[in-house]
Amino acid sequence: MIPCNPLTTEELALIFEGDQTQPMYVYQDGVPDELQVLKTNCTEIDPQDTNVKMLIARMYKTVADGDRAGVGIAAPQVGLARRLFLVKRFDKANEPFEFFINPQIVWYSAVLQQGDEGCLSIEDRYEAVYRSLAVQITYFDLEGNHYQEVVEGYTAVIMQHEYDHLNGILFTDRVVEQEERQYEDATLETPLVYEV
Ligand SMILES: [Zn+2]
Repeated sequence: MIPCNPLTTEELALIFEGDQTQPMYVYQDGVPDELQVLKTNCTEIDPQDTNVKMLIARMYKTVADGDRAGVGIAAPQVGLARRLFLVKRFDKANEPFEFFINPQIVWYSAVLQQGDEGCLSIEDRYEAVYRSLAVQITYFDLEGNHYQEVVEGYTAVIMQHEYDHLNGILFTDRVVEQEERQYEDATLETPLVYEV
């Protein structure tokens, strides 16, 4: 089912503050009003709203050509608490950016991978985070078609990071959460202890 949540006047003003050649301002976790947006559980966006195309074009400019280039960006990072993100597809030829409207991660692999992450909304912080090695994601395109696919590796890590943004979760929240947990290294056998 395609949701219908029209963009607000404020959201449209943000989108049309510049044209499609101009990056958008990226909200920062150190600014209280902006952090509030970054911590919001985002609402769905109408894929067939013609303004969404412009938003995607400007988010692309922001992540590809902004002051800091990135590998993914979510709508709340440019001030719209909406369920939309862009991800660089390292698993495809020429590594294109692709957009995902109203995405849902419907399956996370139990096997995890650990890698360093940073965020366009968090300055000068890079830390190791555990993520699922593979995920299954569903999403819409601009025509309202619904898709699903299974993605793995680094691209899956980016998707999980961006999907967290839509639920108001930053990677630094994951770092704190994971400090409490114990992880087993799947590459190591349980060491045998010989008594001598
Ligand atoms: Zn981020």
